[in-house]
Amino acid sequence: MSQHKTKSSQEFSIERPIKKARKAHTCCSCKKTIPAKTRYIRTIGVAESPRHYGNDFFSNAWHPACLADHQGYVRDQLRRQG
Ligand SMILES: [Zn+2]
Repeated sequence: MSQHKTKSSQEFSIERPIKKARKAHTCCSCKKTIPAKTRYIRTIGVAESPRHYGNDFFSNAWHPACLADHQGYVRDQLRRQG
């Protein structure tokens, strides 16, 4: 099996667990504060941009529980579609 780079508008993202926030962030899911010095997860990704050539870069901060909730929700949606 070979791996091809898919040509699509699909975005990808990577999760980067941060052990200790250097400063307070806002969770992109619940919009509550992630206080400094606590653990959180940052997702960094690229999405094809419809506005210009190239890609848009995005970066979100999550409470670990909020990201787990979100991923469970996405899996549910996929199950329903498939
Ligand atoms: Zn949250």
